[in-house]
Amino acid sequence: RSGWMQRLRGGLRKTGGSIAAVFSDARIDDALYDELEDALLMADTGIKATQHLLDDLRRRVKERRSTEPTAVKALLADAIADLLKPLEKPLVIGQHTPTVIMVAGVNGAGKTTSIGKLTKHLADAKATVLLAAADTFRAAAREQLGVWADRNLVEIIGQQGGDPAAVSFDAVTAGKARGKDVVLVDTAGRLPTQLHLMQELQKIKRVVQKADNSAPHEVLLVIDGNTGQNALAQVRAFDDALGLTGLIVTKLDGTAKGGVLAAIAQERPIPVYFIGVGEKLEDLETFNAREFAQALLG
Ligand code: GDP
Repeated sequence: RSGWMQRLRGGLRKTGGSIAAVFSDARIDDALYDELEDALLMADTGIKATQHLLDDLRRRVKERRSTEPTAVKALLADAIADLLKPLEKPLVIGQHTPTVIMVAGVNGAGKTTSIGKLTKHLADAKATVLLAAADTFRAAAREQLGVWADRNLVEIIGQQGGDPAAVSFDAVTAGKARGKDVVLVDTAGRLPTQLHLMQELQKIKRVVQKADNSAPHEVLLVIDGNTGQNALAQVRAFDDALGLTGLIVTKLDGTAKGGVLAAIAQERPIPVYFIGVGEKLEDLETFNAREFAQALLG
């Protein structure tokens, strides 16, 4: 479990965003806060969340009259954990049969991989899953999802070149008829230029609702944890268009900076159901604010 935390720390050190290094100074003074500001910004925390964390830290330090760097570092861990806490929420299934989960994300974010991981996670929890391959524009997407489906022994609906909304409708209808626990709808991350992605995704959402009044029960966005403020912009855009209920943040192993989660918590506190910490099927973790804060601080 701690392997990805090591890698996240390693990534932070590599990108120069090491927050821990700031606390090697013996004195708690304005220079330290300046260094901390730089380190937080380098770690992709963004201006607003960085400001919030620094203000919060100064308040905590004053309250506790802390003067030891290790004590101040612990207070920063508390401040980060408190900021991230609202993101810590589990994905709940079983309240509807099927629970319809629509998954969006720009190409390359790790959407297909995450759907594979999520399928395994659900299958391990004894849930039956039907996959809807509604990314009908990308030949490789259907193929890749097929590989995941085979590996997880789950059924898949939709073929390349089909209409994404029709595939989604069919999948939800089939999921209901066959009593599946979950229908996972994979959507396109990019479209032929004449089509507008958000409009197409909104159409899928409407059509899914036609197939089942209460669906979709979850609208997830997959974002690449390495893309910093760009990931935050994606969260804003997809949330405005679709009303997101959860996030999967991928690639938090490797060279990820991780601070983007603080920026998301500050601006759009949408639950992070899972984090991706590797390319393998089991490299999916539930998000824990305290653990993550600790990993960020190294
Ligand atoms: P999609 O275009 O959004 O469907 O993205 P893919 O699922 O095809 O993933 C793009 C690349 O990112 C692939 O090489 C994946 O193996 C890789 N990837 C996805 N998730 C993770 C992760 O959590 N960690 C790492 N290291 N790589 C990942």
